[in-house]
Amino acid sequence: FNDILDRGEPFALIAKPCDITAVRNLARLDPRVDEHMRYALAFVCGGASDLTKSEQVLQRFGLREDELSLFRYRGHGNPGLNRIETKDGRAFEISYRQLWEDEDKWMIQPRCKICPDAIGQVADIAVSDAWLNGGPAVEDEPLNGIIVRTKRGLELFDAAVEAGVLEIKRESGIAEISELQSHQVRKRRAVWARLTGMAIAGKPFVGDLALRDCAAQNSPAENLAEGRGARDRAQRGRLREPPAVPR
Ligand SMILES: Cc1cc2nc3c(=O)[nH]c(=O)nc-3n(C[C@H](O)[C@H](O)[C@H](O)COP(=O)(O)OP(=O)(O)OC[C@H]3O[C@@H](n4cnc5c(N)ncnc54)[C@H](O)[C@@H]3O)c2cc1C
Ligand code: SF4
Repeated sequence: FNDILDRGEPFALIAKPCDITAVRNLARLDPRVDEHMRYALAFVCGGASDLTKSEQVLQRFGLREDELSLFRYRGHGNPGLNRIETKDGRAFEISYRQLWEDEDKWMIQPRCKICPDAIGQVADIAVSDAWLNGGPAVEDEPLNGIIVRTKRGLELFDAAVEAGVLEIKRESGIAEISELQSHQVRKRRAVWARLTGMAIAGKPFVGDLALRDCAAQNSPAENLAEGRGARDRAQRGRLREPPAVPR
């Protein structure tokens, strides 16, 4: 990232919400960030899988990483197929549903379970899929959700529409987005209690972003269950980031 700042040229950051938070924090120390970063664009983020998730797919086809010329999770469609190509010309495909059907095998990183901003409040624009209950029927029409969060984001959005690179189907609202991103609603409501449980276990508390207001929409019993669960997992060391593993 320093190389980008060293260039001294305008740039846009397209990243996970937590990456954008890191860069916004860097801006407090390094004035070049605010000077050159024109836009911060996030996708609504259900969590980042660790590499073992992709390795499971390779195992399914009996492939090794060094044989690959391409590994694409989705794309060329909405969502399109998970496609793997090898250097010797073989190709393998599985559907988005096959890739993600077993939630126990998502291999989501621990920090994602306590992520205070998976919906990209730190970004100028956050984009999302627009699938009912967080999953595609099969192949959906080319349609995404867009949440414009800042004046700067609105300027970019308007310019994209004006230039014809974005076609607006219709406006949506909080109620519909909450339905489309029901897993995000559940997480937003759970995170304050989870962080509080971790604080009881002696871990740092990272609050704000209206987390407490979101938790207030739960019943006390739900918050208690989330808090106790997180406290117990933190005490057993299960909410720690795993150590780096050489590959
Ligand atoms: C770690 C991670 C976690 C995520 N978690 C969530 C989440 O919790 N909730 C959520 O909503 N999304 C989630 N996403 C998905 C994210 O919202 C999408 O990646 C994003 O909306 C797609 O936009 P893009 O600009 O990144 O992709 P692009 O590849 O630029 O655009 C892809 C979009 O273009 C359209 N498209 C492209 N080619 C075709 C074609 N040939 N036919 C039809 N349509 C086409 C489709 O609408 C498709 O969705 C996650 C992504 C990642 C990487
Ligand atoms: S869920 Fe949050 S912490 Fe996890 S990758 Fe997404 S933005 Fe980062």
